[in-house]
Amino acid sequence: MALTRMLGLFAAILLLSTGIAFLGYHYLKLASEYRKNNFIHLSETQRAMDYLEEHPKLEKSEMEVLRAHVAAAQAQAIWCVANLSALETRAFHWLGVGSALDICKYDIRTSELLLARLNGLIESNDARHIVQTTPYLVFYFKRGLLRMREDSFAFQPFVDIIEGKLGLLVKISTLIASTGLGLLFSLVAAKLVRAWRSQSDQTIEMQRMAQRFSLAIQASSDGFALFNKERVLLTCNDRYRELSHPNPAFIRDGMTAIEIMNDAADKGFYQTNGLDTADFVSGHVLQMRSDHDDVQLEISDDRHVLVRFSQTEFGDQVITRTNITDAVRNARKQREYTRTLKKAKDAVERQSLTDPLTGLANRRQLDVALHAQMEIGPASLIRIDLDRFKQVNDVLGHDAGDHVLRIVAKLLTEHTREDDLPARVGGDEFVVLCAPGTQLQDATILASRLLHAIKHPVSYGKKRCIFGASFGIAIGDPSITAPSELLSNADAALYQAKADGRGKIVNFSNDMRKAAKQERALADRFMQALGDGEFVPYFQTQHDARTWKLSGVEVLARWEHPIDGVLSPVKFLGIAKQLGLEAELDTVIFEAAERAVAVLKTAGIILPRVAFNVSASRIIDPLFLQHLKLIPHEKRKGYVFERLESISYEDASQHLVMAIDTLKDMGFKVDVDDFGSGHASINSVLSIEPDSLKIDRRIISPLGKSERAGQMVSSIIELARSMNARVIAEGVDSEEKAIILREKGCDELQGYFFSQPMSAAALAQNMTTYNNRGAATAAQQ
Ligand code: C2E
Ligand code: CA
Ligand code: CA
Repeated sequence: MALTRMLGLFAAILLLSTGIAFLGYHYLKLASEYRKNNFIHLSETQRAMDYLEEHPKLEKSEMEVLRAHVAAAQAQAIWCVANLSALETRAFHWLGVGSALDICKYDIRTSELLLARLNGLIESNDARHIVQTTPYLVFYFKRGLLRMREDSFAFQPFVDIIEGKLGLLVKISTLIASTGLGLLFSLVAAKLVRAWRSQSDQTIEMQRMAQRFSLAIQASSDGFALFNKERVLLTCNDRYRELSHPNPAFIRDGMTAIEIMNDAADKGFYQTNGLDTADFVSGHVLQMRSDHDDVQLEISDDRHVLVRFSQTEFGDQVITRTNITDAVRNARKQREYTRTLKKAKDAVERQSLTDPLTGLANRRQLDVALHAQMEIGPASLIRIDLDRFKQVNDVLGHDAGDHVLRIVAKLLTEHTREDDLPARVGGDEFVVLCAPGTQLQDATILASRLLHAIKHPVSYGKKRCIFGASFGIAIGDPSITAPSELLSNADAALYQAKADGRGKIVNFSNDMRKAAKQERALADRFMQALGDGEFVPYFQTQHDARTWKLSGVEVLARWEHPIDGVLSPVKFLGIAKQLGLEAELDTVIFEAAERAVAVLKTAGIILPRVAFNVSASRIIDPLFLQHLKLIPHEKRKGYVFERLESISYEDASQHLVMAIDTLKDMGFKVDVDDFGSGHASINSVLSIEPDSLKIDRRIISPLGKSERAGQMVSSIIELARSMNARVIAEGVDSEEKAIILREKGCDELQGYFFSQPMSAAALAQNMTTYNNRGAATAAQQ
């Protein structure tokens, strides 16, 4: 700010002093004019005076000469006054020389008077008359001329003054102006020099930059090219040439982008993806025009470049070409790897989600689908269990069994819609997860269609496989029922269908829900109950068929539940099996029964035989056999292990058969339980050479009313005799039955007619009665 103000002041002084100098010069010039005029005035006046001196007699012609001199002198005086502008007149006053002008005016006046006299004389004297000059007239002229000469003398100093004063002013202002101008000039000059210097520095720097730049682009591993607005190549590096043409030397500055590309494409440098050369090139050049995103090109030898365009503000285009071959090849490899991996994964996934035998979904897939469906809404499940499948397997062999399973899978696939999911979840167990939105009615219709279809006998070679199916249906709303609960609901319905006599369809009901709920509660408590000694052995007496005397006891498990009371095995055996705790349960009961028997013994009560129900899993448990080894040899014949007829011994593992053999070798007895229930081939049962056959209580129950039952009992007794086995009848609930069985030759009897299952304490209390008359005590119970 201060600088600009100073500069302003400086400029003003410069301007003013220049102005003053100019003005000064002007007045100096004027002053010299005055000096000249004054000199002319003086010399004319002097000449007139000299002429008058020389000619005392003035005739007309002399007077005319005199008049000419006076007029010339007057003209100078008039010039001096008339030539001044108002400003100059004022300047005269400012300079203190105003009275010089008054002198001029006075002089003009004097000369006017002289001229007037001369004119008068010249006009009155005609040429022929000589004017006789008087001494006064001469004196008058002389005096007038003298005045005029004095005026000239008086005027002269004023001119000197003016010149002196103006000269000083002009000197000062010229000095100021010239100094100022010099200063200004030197300033401007310095500035110019500086500008020039920086200009040249910049030029050098620019040259250096250009050098560096060209070095850099040459050294760059990327291709670099600069094209102008018309797409003419201005410069490029070797890498660019190499990545743009099969013959890099072909590319020279001044070529157009199209020329370069066309030639390269013609020589097969580019992978054009089926486009012809012209289309390919024009497409690429179009991309050059628009400020396009990066473009990827494939060039010869499976190489790949990434082309990048960018426009400068002058319309030039910078193009870089980066070799991305490695990255592209790696990405390709990665993709191939991912694809193979996915293929393998899909295959594994498929395998792990399908049942290899039937190709249906397996349990895992069913679980996934069920969970997925129940995340959105309700789901309907149909559980299917084949009836008599075991027989097919046992009698016709495994191949026939597999064939049947495949046929059933095919039927399930044929009769369900695409959105339904049929699955095989166990040996002969299937589930259909119905399509979302399926109502109970639709599910029931589907189940009956399936029931009908499955009922048809299937041929396997020359054999006919006859089987059926039972169905349990359940629908679950996810807000109330969890997927696992829905499965067990359908299971409960299926269980009911089987209990109702097979080949049935049962919908899950509220009662079943309650039962299922109760079962869950029992299952939750089972483990703890086992540890807490809630499972206890009950004893049911067995009697000699002829004398009705006590011949032994069967140990039957009971759960003394603190809330639900005494529970029978139907309530908890299934749970034990589900939890895999069957063997543990058997062990607990066995050990408790042994202790009870020992206590009875100390009270003098000897039990000739004690029969135990034993699950397959317990028989094959090595601990079980070890435990039995502790029992003295002579006592061992008093222990009986009852095996269910329904266990197929053919089917059973080598372990089980060996374990049974070992039991017998050790001196224990093995009975076949529930014989006649028709579950297994007689051959397979007999192969284990049992000590006794226990006739199934379902055969005994109609005895006396059904002739067929009587015949069956007779046949079983006959069979037992043929293999040297004893016969025990269970479920004997009346005297009539006891008598019939005795007559038919049965060896031992067991049932409510003699006693209900009871605790060890109850047994001890009533022992004498049982020993004597079973029926009487049975009534007391
Ligand atoms: P099971 O071995 O056939 O046992 C005989 C069943 O018939 C017993 O039922 C018994 O209470 C019942 N019973 C006895 N007399 C009569 C009668 O006159 N009429 C009728 N209708 N029934 C009679 P429980 O005690 O409910 O046992 C059921 C099944 O549970 C047994 O059938 C047996 O297979 C199994 N079981 C019982 N205790 C055990 C055990 O400790 N371990 C194993 N693994 N299974 C056991
Ligand atoms: Ca039994
Ligand atoms: Ca039985």
